[in-house]
Amino acid sequence: MIPDAFTELYGIIGHPVRHSLSPAMHNAAFRSAGLNAVYLAFDVEDLAGALEGARALGVKGMSVTIPHKEAVMAHLDEVDETARRIGAVNTVVNRDNRLFGLNTDAVGAVRALEEALPVTEKRIVVLGAGGSARAVVAGLVSAGASVHVANRTVEKARTLASSWGASWSGLDAEALKGVSGDVLVNTTSVGMGPKPDAIPVPPEFVGRFQVVMDIVYAPLKTMLLAVAEEHGAATVNGLRMLLHQAVAQFESWTGKEAPKKVMEEALTEAVGRRKAEGCK
Ligand code: NAP
Repeated sequence: MIPDAFTELYGIIGHPVRHSLSPAMHNAAFRSAGLNAVYLAFDVEDLAGALEGARALGVKGMSVTIPHKEAVMAHLDEVDETARRIGAVNTVVNRDNRLFGLNTDAVGAVRALEEALPVTEKRIVVLGAGGSARAVVAGLVSAGASVHVANRTVEKARTLASSWGASWSGLDAEALKGVSGDVLVNTTSVGMGPKPDAIPVPPEFVGRFQVVMDIVYAPLKTMLLAVAEEHGAATVNGLRMLLHQAVAQFESWTGKEAPKKVMEEALTEAVGRRKAEGCK
C-alpha cells in the first residue's frame, strides 16, 4: 500500500538502531494484513523529546530497544504490571493518545522455547541476570517453569532470582556443580559479535540439558548451540525470540492475529541480506 494522508506511523526507538531487523518484520506484517501503516527506525538520544514528539504526532506504536527500555517507563501514562516487575518496556501502544507500556520479550522467550517443548513444570537454567534475563525469567516463571539463575556477578543473580522465587548461583564450573535441568537458556552476551568462539559455561555443563536456547542471534549458531548439537540436544536460536516478541507487538498494536509466517520470512530475508552485505 502506498502511504497516503491516512497512513499510521509505527517505529522503533533506540541508539544505535540501524542494525534493527524489526522494520523488515513489521512492514511485511502491515502489508500482508492490508493495513495502511508504516514502521520506521528512529535513532534516538533525546528520549523525552522523542516521546513528546511521538505523542504530538499521534504515533500509533513503538518498539523500544537499548538503551531506552528502562528509562522510557517514566515517560508513559501507564505500564503493565509484568513490565513494571521486569523493570523494562519494549513496546509502547498509543491508546487514544495515552501511552501504554508493556514487555513482549517475556512472552516472546516462552513462545520461542515452546516450539521445542512445553515449559510448564520444566526445570530451566537461565544464564545471565541482565535486562533480557529479567524478561526471560519473568516469562518462564509465569508460564509455570521452575527457574535457576546463574550469573557471573552472583549478587545480580540473587536479586533477580529472589524476586521471582527462583534459585541462583555463579557461572563458573565450581558454582554450577550441582546445577542441572531440562532446559538451558543463555541470555548473556557471551558468544556474540566479535568473540563468536566464546561460550558462557564449561562445554561439559551443556550436556546436562535436552533443550538449549540462546537468545544471541549474531551469529545465528553460537558456540553454545554448536556444543549443544554435539551433545544431541534440541536447539532454539535467538531469532525465534526476536520473531515471537515482534508477533506479540503486532497483536498488541492492531488487536489482530499477526501474520507470523510472513514476519518469519521477512526476518530470514533481512538476516540473509545483512550477511551478504558482510555485517553482523
Ligand atoms: P545486559 O543487560 O548488558 O546483560 C548482559 C549479561 O551478560 C549480564 O548477565 C552479564 O553478566 C553477562 N555477561 C557479559 N559478559 C560476560 C562474560 N564475559 N562472561 C559472563 N557473563 C557475561 O544485556 P541484555 O540486554 O540482557 O542482552 C544480552 C544479549 O541478549 C545480547 O546479546 C542481546 O543482543 C540479546 N538479546 C536478544 C533478544 C532476542 O529477541 N533474541 C532480545 C534481547 C536481547 P554480569 O552481570 O556479571 O555483568
